[in-house]
Amino acid sequence: MERIKMQTPLVEMDGDEMTRVIWKMIKDELILPYVELKTEYYDLGLEYRNETNDQVTIDSANATKKYGVAVKCATITPNAARVEEYNLKEMWKSPNGTIRAILDGTVFRAPIIVKGITPFIPGWTKPITIARHAYGDVYKGVELRVDEPSTAKLVVEGQSGKRQEVEIHAFDGPGVLQGMHNTDKSIRSFAHSCFKFAIDTRQDLWFATKDTISKTYDAQFKQIFEEVYESHYKARFEELGIEYFYTLIDDAVARVIRSKGGFIWACKNYDGDVMSDMLSTAFGSLAMMTSVLVSPDGKYEYEAAHGTVTRHYYRYLKGEETSTNPMATIFAWSGALRKRGELDGIGELVNFGDQLEAACIDTLNEGIATKDLVGLMEGVEARAVNSADFIAAIRARLEKRLA
Ligand code: NAP
Ligand code: MG
Repeated sequence: MERIKMQTPLVEMDGDEMTRVIWKMIKDELILPYVELKTEYYDLGLEYRNETNDQVTIDSANATKKYGVAVKCATITPNAARVEEYNLKEMWKSPNGTIRAILDGTVFRAPIIVKGITPFIPGWTKPITIARHAYGDVYKGVELRVDEPSTAKLVVEGQSGKRQEVEIHAFDGPGVLQGMHNTDKSIRSFAHSCFKFAIDTRQDLWFATKDTISKTYDAQFKQIFEEVYESHYKARFEELGIEYFYTLIDDAVARVIRSKGGFIWACKNYDGDVMSDMLSTAFGSLAMMTSVLVSPDGKYEYEAAHGTVTRHYYRYLKGEETSTNPMATIFAWSGALRKRGELDGIGELVNFGDQLEAACIDTLNEGIATKDLVGLMEGVEARAVNSADFIAAIRARLEKRLA
C-alpha cells in the first residue's frame, strides 16, 4: 500500500513520561506505516525545555501560528518536587499555559463515546463538548480580609483622569471581599473560537451566564457573544442548520442533564472548571477525553486531556507491564491529521483520521481494552491488555478498514 502524502507539516510537540512512551508507539504502529508523515518536531520533554530555558515551548507555539495545526503530547508542569527530580534551572511554567497565552485560544474537551461504556447519565448518547474560557474572573481575582467595621469601595482611575467609584459594602464587622475582571478582547476571542468550533464540528453552541444577577459583568459576556454571532456567524449557522442558544447557567445545567448530548457548551472560566470535571467523570474516564485548543484566528492544537500518567511510568521504568490507555493521545493524532487534511484538501488524510478513530472504537466494541476501562464496560466480555497489545489490536482493525 502506498503511504498517504502530506503537504504542510504538522507541528509535533513531544512530551514526558508514560505519554512520551505511548507517543512513539502510536507513531510507529498507527501512523508511520500509512502516512508519509511530515512534521516539524519540537521536544517539549522537561529535559529539553530546561536545556533551552523553555524557548522550545515558545518556538512550538509560534510554529503552530505559522502552520495552523499542532499535536501535543502530555507534559510535566514542574512543581518543587520536579525541580529536584530533574535538576531544573527554574520552575518552568506550564507548557499549556505558555502555548495558550501565545495562541490566545479556547480549550474544547469532548469525551470519546463507546457502546460498552454507559455514562452516569444514560440519556447522554452523544458527546458534550465543554469550551472553557481560560482567562480572568476569579482566577485573576484579588482578595482582601476586612477585620473591623469598614467601608469597601470599587475605584477605577482612567488614564484620561476619569474616576469611577462605587460602594461595595459597609461592613459592620469582619468579612472578606474580592475584585475580579475580564476584558472585552478576551471575551470576544473566546466567542470567536466557540462559533468557529461549532461550525467546524457542525454542532449547536450553548452559552450561559448569570446575567440576571450580574447585570454588568455577565451581561457583557452575553452581549459580546450576541454581537459576534450576529455580525460574523449567523448566516453560516443558518446554512448549516445549527443553533446558537443562550440561557441562564442554572437553566443550562438542568437542560444539559436532560439532553441527549451532541452540542458544545461554552462556559465562563469557573463554570468550565467545575463542569468539565463533572462531565469527564459522568462520561467515564479522563483517559477518554479529547482536548483541542482553538485560537480565534483558527489555529488548532490537539492533545489528550490527561497528564503524563507518572504512576504508570515509574512502573514501566521498573520493567513492569503497564496498561495505559492511549485513546485520547491517538485521537489527538487523528484529529490533527484530519484537520491538516481538511485545510490542505487531502481527502485521503481526512479519511485516515476517521478510519483510525473507527478502528479504536472497533477494538473497544470487541471488548479489548486497557485496564482502566475494563471495569466500566458492560454488555461485552471485556479483557484487559497492555498498551502495546491494545495498539496492536487497533492496528489489525485499521489494516482491515484501509484494505
Ligand atoms: P494524570 O497523568 O492524568 O494521571 C492521574 C491518574 O489518572 C493516573 O495515575 C491513572 O490512574 C489515571 N490515568 C490518567 N490517564 C490515564 C491513561 N491514559 N490511562 C490509564 N490511566 C490514566 O495526572 P497526574 O498524575 O496528576 O499528573 C502527572 C503529570 O502530568 C504531572 O506532572 C502534571 O503536571 C502533568 N499534567 C499534564 C497535563 C497536560 O500536559 N495536558 C495535564 C494534567 C497533568 P491509576 O494510577 O489509578 O491507574
Ligand atoms: Mg478543575
